[in-house]
Amino acid sequence: MIKDDLKKILISEEQIRQRCFELGRQLDHDYADNHNGLLFVGILKGSVPFMAELIKRVTLDIEIDFMAVSSYSGTETLGDIKIIKDLEHSIQGRDLVLVEDIVDTGITIKALKTLLYNKGAHDVKVVSLLDKPSRRQVDVKADYIGFEVENEFVVGFGLDYNQKYRNLPYVGVLKEELY
Ligand code: 5GP
Repeated sequence: MIKDDLKKILISEEQIRQRCFELGRQLDHDYADNHNGLLFVGILKGSVPFMAELIKRVTLDIEIDFMAVSSYSGTETLGDIKIIKDLEHSIQGRDLVLVEDIVDTGITIKALKTLLYNKGAHDVKVVSLLDKPSRRQVDVKADYIGFEVENEFVVGFGLDYNQKYRNLPYVGVLKEELY
């Protein structure tokens, strides 16, 4: 079983569920007066379990969409991203909540925010299940954070190692011999 590959569980199912309740209430409060067509944008694939848990706790009128991106390899420009799967919705003039699994160096969300503003978004906020501030390389932060984690590689609840472990219902750290 994949759970036997873990050295430890960092964040339990119950902690994630509880935190999503709190984030849902916070988003409800902060966007109560929003009239720009709130769109939650999940970044594939890591955000899928978090997106599913979070949106159940938001009582506002929202829509959801997904995009998949990858970094350009071999270029020197930090933060160039390639769109693998684009949004279905037009985002012109809309308020977006970008849903991420983890903010690590910050390069991905910084590039995504720029891209989404360039496509005409009115406002882009970021909600991330996890934040690893010690690894940041660019000046960016998530507006809403589930949990802060130390500088160690985590898996589960959407986060993978070589595409594996995304289906673990909690967040944990792999045994060293598996890397
Ligand atoms: P950033 O651009 O902020 O460095 O990286 C964001 C992406 O890197 C995340 O969406 C995630 O896919 C991956 N990543 C960063 N740290 C971790 C980690 O500790 N575990 C896993 N599984 N992926 C990570």
